Amino acid sequence: MPSRRKFLRQTALAAGSGLLAAAWDAKQAIAQVAQSTSPQDHIVLSTWDFGLKANRKAMEILMSGGRLLDAVEEGVKVVEADPQSTSVGLNGYPDRDGYVTLDACIMDEEGNAGSVTYLQYIEHPVSVARLIMEKTPHVMLSGRGALRFALDHGFKMKKGLSPQAREAWEAWKKKTGYVPRPVSGDHDTIGLIARSADGKLAGACTTSGLAFKMHGRVGDSPIIGAGLYVDPLVGAATATGVGEYVIRICGSHTIVELMRQGVPPQQACLEALKRIVVRHKKLDNVQVGFLALHRTGAYGAYALRPGFQYALSVGASHELHAAPFMFDE
Ligand code: ASP
Repeated sequence: MPSRRKFLRQTALAAGSGLLAAAWDAKQAIAQVAQSTSPQDHIVLSTWDFGLKANRKAMEILMSGGRLLDAVEEGVKVVEADPQSTSVGLNGYPDRDGYVTLDACIMDEEGNAGSVTYLQYIEHPVSVARLIMEKTPHVMLSGRGALRFALDHGFKMKKGLSPQAREAWEAWKKKTGYVPRPVSGDHDTIGLIARSADGKLAGACTTSGLAFKMHGRVGDSPIIGAGLYVDPLVGAATATGVGEYVIRICGSHTIVELMRQGVPPQQACLEALKRIVVRHKKLDNVQVGFLALHRTGAYGAYALRPGFQYALSVGASHELHAAPFMFDE
């Protein structure tokens, strides 16, 4: 049995060599990013086409000298409040019992984290997650406790289940005979990761989860390390798609750890997807998409299937891109 001291020394040596590797590979990453963006620019990266409006808001805050954490929070709040969004916020599709339950998380520039799961009746779950991070000794609150915490801090209750969502739910009940199953297109999370021009990182992730999920189901989006991960010394990653697959491989954390070892962001996203593929015999209709942002500003995206779009904002430019994918359909 190795002595405790020896064990500690070995651990420290291993950690030290990891740091050296990260420092060396950062040079490569800087060279890579120099081709497309300047590390002096603010960079915001987010999931799906609704990411564009989130990015614009986040960038507006960054460009006017605001804090990065405010930028990521206010960015995703735009989508949470959007009446057209059927997969984020209170206008999202309900679970199979007709309740809209929300999951969200946030990580700040120092790697602090806050998260809320299974929250009902609150328009901005990401802001509740932030308060949990800032005002409590905890990382995650759930359900009734989270709601009570939100109300105690001045949040107001609002009704979920918009007429549009109710209609979709009624139709789903007739069609499927009340079986919860991931339906392609009925779920899309906003995950937003950002790097300020001074090299800080932060991120936020928020969703109403899979449409018509089982009551009480929580996906990857509020799980630190699954739907979102930020390591201020390495980079950030976020996920969208069927959360169960992301949770099983700790998706976002895996990507950040790969970047720590020098794997470029896009390759890190692909490697994480490969872990999903080797573990599951059947992946019919399952979509998962990842985004990654290295602390140097290098970024990447990858999805299991076609269709995953991401919004990229660099300084004043905002663009929607199609992510590369592993399978043709
Ligand atoms: N990841 C989300 C969840 O599983 C859904 C999505 O992003 O499409 O709840």
